[in-house]
Amino acid sequence: MAYRKIKANKIFDGYTFLETNKVLITQANGIIETIVDVKDAGDDIQNFNGIICPGFINAHCHIELSHLKNKIPQQTGLVEFILQILKYRNADEDIKQHAMQLADQELYNTGTVAVGDICNTNDSLSLKKHSKIHWHNFIEVSGFNNDIAETRFEIAKNIYEQFCKLSLSNSIVPHAPYSVSTKLFNLINQSAIGKTLCIHNQETLTENEFFQDKIGGFLHLYESLGVDITSFLPLQKTSLQYWLPQLKNAKKIIAVHNTFTTQADINFVKNKKTEQEMYFCLCPNANLYIENTVPAIDLLIKNQVNIVLGTDSYASNTQLNIFEEIKTIQKYFPNIPLQNILKWATINGAKALEINDKFGSFEKGKIPGIVLINNEKATRIL
Ligand SMILES: [Zn+2]
Repeated sequence: MAYRKIKANKIFDGYTFLETNKVLITQANGIIETIVDVKDAGDDIQNFNGIICPGFINAHCHIELSHLKNKIPQQTGLVEFILQILKYRNADEDIKQHAMQLADQELYNTGTVAVGDICNTNDSLSLKKHSKIHWHNFIEVSGFNNDIAETRFEIAKNIYEQFCKLSLSNSIVPHAPYSVSTKLFNLINQSAIGKTLCIHNQETLTENEFFQDKIGGFLHLYESLGVDITSFLPLQKTSLQYWLPQLKNAKKIIAVHNTFTTQADINFVKNKKTEQEMYFCLCPNANLYIENTVPAIDLLIKNQVNIVLGTDSYASNTQLNIFEEIKTIQKYFPNIPLQNILKWATINGAKALEINDKFGSFEKGKIPGIVLINNEKATRIL
């Protein structure tokens, strides 16, 4: 059998940097065989300058919005951003398909092997039939009034069933706490047994203001969209403390953004009665794009919560490149060791999407992809 033997200045195995002088041995197709000392590796070792690590897991993306690249103005705040998306998201089919193909290629070339991808439509179905990337499809549903809950859920279920013909990696998920009614949360929760769900969480301060006191920018959003919120009463609790108890059936939940998540919210997560695993997904370049802010990552680390990384979409990012998210985290939080951030980008993401049997680390039998990091860039080499 033909093997590949790979050595680099440093090897990160999904958990930690290995001692120097280790060689990663894979089968020709990329299945991990073993890691050995260089003295036991024999001949034909390929040497790379830089860091070798497993393929990245992008836990939050919206590939179907790729045609919005450079369309949405930056730093307008979330409410204006949402209104802009609704204005620009429709486009000709060939424009959307072409943009998605370019995005898929970029994800692959920059080392992403698996994506947790939000789908509001079946637009990405044909791309995913041929993509070399693993996709978990989060079929997203919204509707803030109870009377449209069943109709909206049926539409999502129809899209979900179309994706199920392609793969089993799918779940129906709420868009955000401020766009999903309690009845719709209930329907989603009923379909969530054994599933990984995700939700956009605390992406703006306004989100907490709305749930706590029914004030702030969301009132403008509902008015602009013609959504009647007269029956909604202020809850005196934050967004996270409102939505989390409504998704009790989910096996795992990926809370995305967390830009305004506080210690009280993290305590609430830690004290919840269910066994479900929580993951906090960071998309710092999108947070900078929309709100010109970054989450309190140091607070998340202090609390030892599970962290994963995402890019969000081309509506709120200038690239779909996990290594650029890593660089932004290093820029704003220079004291976080690279080893920790790489772990978020690899094994943690694989666990969140329940694909750690195949992805996320250099362990025998897995086929995680191999990424080379050098000259401030990440490139897929296998
Ligand atoms: Zn998003």
